[in-house]
Amino acid sequence: MSDIHIIGGGLAGSEAAWQAAEGGLTVMLHEMRPVRKTDAHQTDSLAELVCSNSFRSDDAQNNAVGLLHEEMRQAGSLVMRAADAHKLPAGGALAVDRHGFAAAVTKSLEDHPRISIVREEITELPSGGQVIVATGPLTSAGFGAEIARVTGVDHLAFFDAIAPIIHRDSINFDIAWFQSRYDKEGPGGGVADYINLPLDRPQYEAFVAALLAGEKTDFKEWEKSTPYFEACLPIEVMAARGLDTLRFGPMKPVGLKDPRKDERPHAVVQLRQDNKLGSLWNMVGFQTKLKYAEQVRIFRTIPGLANAEFARLGGLHRNTFLNSPRLLDSRLRLKSASHLRFAGQITGVEGYVESAAIGLLAGRFAAAEALGRETAAPPPTTALGALLGHITGGADAASFQPMNVNFGLFPELPKAGRIRGKDRKQALSARALEDLSAWLGNRRAAE
Ligand SMILES: Cc1cc2nc3c(=O)[nH]c(=O)nc-3n(C[C@H](O)[C@H](O)[C@H](O)COP(=O)(O)OP(=O)(O)OC[C@H]3O[C@@H](n4cnc5c(N)ncnc54)[C@H](O)[C@@H]3O)c2cc1C
Repeated sequence: MSDIHIIGGGLAGSEAAWQAAEGGLTVMLHEMRPVRKTDAHQTDSLAELVCSNSFRSDDAQNNAVGLLHEEMRQAGSLVMRAADAHKLPAGGALAVDRHGFAAAVTKSLEDHPRISIVREEITELPSGGQVIVATGPLTSAGFGAEIARVTGVDHLAFFDAIAPIIHRDSINFDIAWFQSRYDKEGPGGGVADYINLPLDRPQYEAFVAALLAGEKTDFKEWEKSTPYFEACLPIEVMAARGLDTLRFGPMKPVGLKDPRKDERPHAVVQLRQDNKLGSLWNMVGFQTKLKYAEQVRIFRTIPGLANAEFARLGGLHRNTFLNSPRLLDSRLRLKSASHLRFAGQITGVEGYVESAAIGLLAGRFAAAEALGRETAAPPPTTALGALLGHITGGADAASFQPMNVNFGLFPELPKAGRIRGKDRKQALSARALEDLSAWLGNRRAAE
């Protein structure tokens, strides 16, 4: 008999299981893979990264997701420990070897004396006992219907898309070059962590025209009424918004110089390292719903990719999330059935790090509640607290959309009128880390 059942062993469920077990609970973690697959996962590892291998910026002073990394580290995050142990060169970003990362999380959970892992699809929500639901954007269809029934909603889905991955040895390095934007130094000390592919104006305009004309994946019936999420638009949807939209988005050339021409190209495609060996590279921001054959044909027109071999092509998948501001309380419990907690992307946060962060909080809240301890939420001035506040009350329920962590979610500084730009971010970060340490200290005192 376990103290808590956690459904879904992705980024959020894995972190929640770790935190609950470290908090003293016995945990049963239910993961449906490999018994049942999703449209995007490719392995049976826990905490598999389904698309990019990046945890985004690791700059805790100037970037909200970098700050969230640091807060999670200080709160004993398993996901961050595994990410740090398997990081790859990626400029100022924290990118990881996806297989090493997922294997490390899986092993830590398998080895934990208070955690058992069951490989099965859950189709019904238990009516009692403590439960955390962390089945993510690709929640199995039957379980999604069950969640909709229990929460009383009829619509849980929107679109997400996967970027292609290329074999490095199929790239033409007479054209491609290594450089990080603005030569920014990465965690490994490198300033040339990305592969860059330059396009001049005619090449760029022909590429945009090809994207617009390319054959796209058909919409399924249920997808027709599902809106795109603005922060993860397919490139062809961006291209349809205007000739220069991509040049100001994923194909922006700023901070880069083509060494052969000694000038900034008109547009650039950037590739980021995807595995430890450095043999696979993903096309940054190139999520797409073009048909596979069209992707190969059109992407091979990019200079340097004429003979590109693709390890994985882009794809289109649904996402699933709750209207959390309406449905969840400030400790992530379903207001109408408080034994059910939700964590991860299904709560309406967006991204690997944010999903794991909400898993961290759900696991800690569950442990505190079960053991009759103080369940104070992290202060809203911290990245953890700001994110939690947004999904459980800060956002307008009527227009609620998935959200990455950002400084816009933080309460203003008392002297806001006098601090701007970088200084403001640094002041917000300093305040967050100070308040976090008081929260962690308080929790420790209560334990
Ligand atoms: C196609 C796609 C691409 C994405 N790309 C990125 C990206 O590049 N960068 C980024 O930061 N974020 C990305 N995201 C967003 C999101 O952050 C990740 O999906 C993240 O993995 C979410 O974490 P999670 O724990 O909530 O869900 P997941 O990591 O998906 O974990 C959910 C787990 O629950 C399991 N499960 C589902 N239903 C059941 C059931 N009924 N019973 C038992 N187990 C079940 C699944 O098998 C899975 O292991 C992407 C999302 C999608 C869908």
